[in-house]
Amino acid sequence: MNGGLKGLEKILYGVKRGKAMLIVQKYGGTSVANLERIRAVAERIVNYKKEGHDLVVVVSAMAGETDRLINLAKQITENPPLREFDLLVSTGEQVSSALLSITLQSMGYPSIALLGYQVPIYTTDLFTKARIKEIKTEKIKESLSKGKIVIIAGFQGVTENGDITTLGRGGSDTTAVALAAALKADLCEIYTDVEGVFTADPRIVTNARKLKKISYEEMLEMASSGAKVLEMRSVELAMIYKVPLVVRSSFTNSEGTLITEEDEEMEKVLVSGITYNRNEARISIYGVPDKPGVAAKIFGPIGDKGIVVDMIIQTARPDGKADITFTVPKTDYKEALKLIEEIGKQLEAERIEGDPNIAKVSIVGAGMRTHPGVATKMFETLAKHSINIMMISTSEIKVSCVIDEKYTELAVRALHEAFKLENENSIKEEI
Ligand code: ADP
Ligand code: ASP
Ligand code: MG
Repeated sequence: MNGGLKGLEKILYGVKRGKAMLIVQKYGGTSVANLERIRAVAERIVNYKKEGHDLVVVVSAMAGETDRLINLAKQITENPPLREFDLLVSTGEQVSSALLSITLQSMGYPSIALLGYQVPIYTTDLFTKARIKEIKTEKIKESLSKGKIVIIAGFQGVTENGDITTLGRGGSDTTAVALAAALKADLCEIYTDVEGVFTADPRIVTNARKLKKISYEEMLEMASSGAKVLEMRSVELAMIYKVPLVVRSSFTNSEGTLITEEDEEMEKVLVSGITYNRNEARISIYGVPDKPGVAAKIFGPIGDKGIVVDMIIQTARPDGKADITFTVPKTDYKEALKLIEEIGKQLEAERIEGDPNIAKVSIVGAGMRTHPGVATKMFETLAKHSINIMMISTSEIKVSCVIDEKYTELAVRALHEAFKLENENSIKEEI
């Protein structure tokens, strides 16, 4: 994997040599958890500034703050009005961006903190999961040209009507990449509490290995299947706009992981990472008519509510009926179940069943395209540990299995070991 470092070295070498660049940095919640951490972040920013770089810095809310705000609203009602909910949860980033800007100015560095609506970052009006439509860059560029460090509150935007929106959990990553794309930045650095993207969540697998680089496509599959180190939409944007993306720690000076275009080296790797997702729930609808239009009737109303269905399995039965099982985000579970109960009545379904206690474990790797044995090894490994597979789905470079939630950690560790991911060389072994 030596070649893997080259892209990153080139970029970092540029930084070291003092070539002036436009860099977008994003600091996650733990990186700005308290005033001491904010000070450390400010010092890092200042070091870049001293080398002559222009900096646009996106911040998340201080660690735990978004959860605290969500919890406040939920104490009032299970279903808070979404416009007001976004108004509330977006305030976490207002606090951290202002604090960082105050810190920088107190250190003698001119800066300006901007909220989403002040940029403006225009989004759709789907509250709690809005998508960025357009970013106006004039104000940012003007501040940069005046030598200011621009701090931007992550996770939030504004509709054309002036309503504040949020982008979904982890959305500050997306703010950062979207800004990097809009500003045509030279580099987008995502600072977090781990040293990069690992072969599995280092909190679960202690011998997980840090990847020096990974392709956009693999990272997209990892993010979409649960590796929360990067939010999925941010990877999607980075891939489309070819934003050079680095994930690294704000606690150390380690080099991090470069997310970039696939190269020959990456293709040889069978499995790059193991992911898990405990944030989905399963819904089954049994005994619906097996005829054209039924799937559309079931999934149409769910899609209309902005609920993203992940896996779907349909089984045709000998009696001319069908059973359909699918997964939705746990946060949308109750709403989806209610919708399905209504649809079930219309379709005269026999029975509806829901199970929020599931987990999805996945293996991701570009080399899977040419190695069919990978899926079998995954199934065998789960079987060896007596873990029952409830659902399976595959893509070109990913295999996912839904299992009982209580076996998540066991499954992730077993798969990490089975594919020998702790050892850089053995992952290239043929299966
Ligand atoms: P931030 O607040 O900085 O956005 P997050 O908590 O959203 O940080 O993401 C970082 C976390 O992602 C890590 O602490 C780690 O536990 C988790 N994670 C899950 N899978 C991976 C992985 N494959 N590599 C690195 N981190 C991972
Ligand atoms: N503060 C938001 C969250 O906790 C956004 C982010 O951190 O990226 O989800
Ligand atoms: Mg995050």
